[in-house]
Amino acid sequence: MLYQSTRGGGAKVTASNAIAQGLAGDGGLFVPESFPVIPLDQIIELSKKPYKERAAYTIGLFLDDFSREEIGAYTDLAYGAPGFDHPSIAPLYELDAKTHFLELWHGPTCAFKDMALQMLPHLLVASLKKTREYREVCILVATSGDTGKAALEGFRDVPGTKVHVFYPRDGVSEVQKIQMVSQEGGNVNVTAVEGNFDDTQAGVKAIFSDEALRGQLSESGFLLSSANSINWGRLVPQIAYYISAYCDLISGGGATPGENVDFCVPTGNFGNILAAYYAKKIGLPIGRLICASNRNDVLAQFITTGKYDTNRPFFTTVSPSMDILVSSNLERLLFEISRKDGRVVSDLMSELSGSGRYEVSAQARAEIGKVFSGARCSEEETMVTIREVFDTYGYLIDTHTAVAYKALCDHRAASGEDNTTVVVSTASPFKFCESVIGSLGRPSTYGGAELIEELQELTGASAPAPLRSLKGRLPRFVESVPVDGMKDAVMRFLEK
Ligand SMILES: *Cc1c(COP(=O)(O)O)cnc(C)c1O
Repeated sequence: MLYQSTRGGGAKVTASNAIAQGLAGDGGLFVPESFPVIPLDQIIELSKKPYKERAAYTIGLFLDDFSREEIGAYTDLAYGAPGFDHPSIAPLYELDAKTHFLELWHGPTCAFKDMALQMLPHLLVASLKKTREYREVCILVATSGDTGKAALEGFRDVPGTKVHVFYPRDGVSEVQKIQMVSQEGGNVNVTAVEGNFDDTQAGVKAIFSDEALRGQLSESGFLLSSANSINWGRLVPQIAYYISAYCDLISGGGATPGENVDFCVPTGNFGNILAAYYAKKIGLPIGRLICASNRNDVLAQFITTGKYDTNRPFFTTVSPSMDILVSSNLERLLFEISRKDGRVVSDLMSELSGSGRYEVSAQARAEIGKVFSGARCSEEETMVTIREVFDTYGYLIDTHTAVAYKALCDHRAASGEDNTTVVVSTASPFKFCESVIGSLGRPSTYGGAELIEELQELTGASAPAPLRSLKGRLPRFVESVPVDGMKDAVMRFLEK
């Protein structure tokens, strides 16, 4: 199976080339030229198998220049003990007969990014080898919190790689910050940036586009690469947990084989929900996909109106991993609904970079509406939802998951539908202690890792072990730089 660019340019490449390159030569994203099919019999068969095998099967469908043995070895490493603290890896929690939560935060960093970033390093290192790239790869990450820590854990001590994470000094939660600055491993570095997330991201982009710097690094034997969700190697492991959730529903009696199930996904960069769309495309019985936005509701609005418009204020919210105005993976959806016409996508993307907005055709909008619904959740509603779910069901959810659950409730009320739905739960509530404690009605008196204990005492829930063990951990990385000091920080790290 070959991969092509969403903008129609360049040659078709193998899966390993797509992963090694990250971005296509014409600035587009790599997408499969055609989609494999997963028959219902196979889904039923997989429902008797553990997560690792479900993942290996799904990933194997897409990465056909990797052997079964290779993929099996990587899924063993990625989803084996001790990284995940739950034997099902991605368990379902039943709230009521028609509502289930897919908990994607049982990995080492307690957010759903682990599902892909425990796997990506193996795929990337193997892809570089297959494409005869022998330079050492340096992964640069700008993070609003979750990706950075997940990349650090995923790449930690992986031979032939180094990882340098930049985070906005005042833009991550207390727990996220402690997680990152106390990271272990001999090939990692973490730097705070004096600015917000946009500044941090712009700084990383500037490093990537600095030809002179890349040349200089290449001479010293380094290749710069990124771990963000535009890489196909990050998307494909995410398709697996949708298959797995369906397997668990049919084996647990939550759905009959072949019955359509809806998914509701808290969305930022559109990577997670796009994986659900691909799962549907290859034959998983999915009805509707509900795209949940927080106060930065560009996506919910796009799905409702067909207009994508970034000319609006940017809000910092209690669900920071969804605070984003330009969702890069939407480009892959645009490609599919434009009948794989790269010129259409290319035109929309130049409109976006010119005026910050675009509008899709009425036909494209109708195509989107057949599968997707959009809904938004305000800050106030997010906080109230956490409390209501906890008071009613004794189930504690984080701010991002609360946005999705509220969006589902609103969608059900507006459409009159009550299909069996899986709400994708993307982070442990203990990663966002300040907000979760606040929503339960108590302003917190603590800071740092103490917040974790406070939330445990308040709710009787127990925090995941990797978060409990943060207490008393000393910071290893204390460097803080202005945006224009980021380049030097990378050089200092690589010259060490
Ligand atoms: C990254 C993230 C999201 C958004 O996922 P996308 O794939 O960017 O849409 C939602 N919730 C949490 C907790 C995240 O870390």
